Amino acid sequence: MDLTNFAVAVLASGSRGNSTLIQCGQTSILIDAGISCRRIVQGLRACGLEPGELSGIFLTHEHKDHVAGLEVFAKHYSQVPIFANERTWVQLPVRRLLPRSQVRVIPRSCILGSLQIKSFRIPHDAADPVGYEIFSEKRKCTYLTDCGTITKTVEQAAKGADVMILEANHDETMLRNGPYPIALQRRILGENGHLSNRTAGQFLASLENPPREVFLAHLSEKNNTPERACQTVEDALEGASVTRKIKLYVARQQTLVSNVW
Ligand SMILES: [Zn+2]
Ligand SMILES: [Zn+2]
Repeated sequence: MDLTNFAVAVLASGSRGNSTLIQCGQTSILIDAGISCRRIVQGLRACGLEPGELSGIFLTHEHKDHVAGLEVFAKHYSQVPIFANERTWVQLPVRRLLPRSQVRVIPRSCILGSLQIKSFRIPHDAADPVGYEIFSEKRKCTYLTDCGTITKTVEQAAKGADVMILEANHDETMLRNGPYPIALQRRILGENGHLSNRTAGQFLASLENPPREVFLAHLSEKNNTPERACQTVEDALEGASVTRKIKLYVARQQTLVSNVW
């Protein structure tokens, strides 16, 4: 069994729901369950996995686009443990409906089968939002969405990642000229909001050893397009003369983007 490589499949990504599958050997975890149970099941089966075979679900934070399918999924597949930090659980009424054994409060780091999973704090307007560093024997994947600004902790978590799921939420000009009310625009642009295409690109370009594969994620449907996100990130990498070839994927709401490496 190869415990080195990951398979990453973004089942859905964007403000209408987020869920990502990460597999290594016999260990399969889902980050967030923000789409319906039906869609999660469909997505997992498209990857050749029965939902009950999941080793666990890890939540980043309590916003609806990350937990919408959780309650129904948890009832149907009660053998799958759900991991979240204490303050996130407090915000989730579903906790009271689940068997105790299914609710797991994660420390900052845990080992599940062939994966080590470490959470790290991110600035976002939720109770205790986190991103994840996921390690196989030799590889590392960093999961980072819903992040208002790049902090030292975030920089540290991205170091040495071979693959990254990275938020590219909006194009700043589209957001400012778009349909969102000013207060919401400010929230998104604020320190506890979301990463823009430009910031995502600059962040990638600033990494000493950028990941070989990047999934641009959590794209806004109103304030971004896949083409713009890709172009802005590519421009930032080119501008910073990043020589390493980075394979960019754009994770969308409906489409399954899948990759084995
Ligand atoms: Zn959020
Ligand atoms: Zn979100």
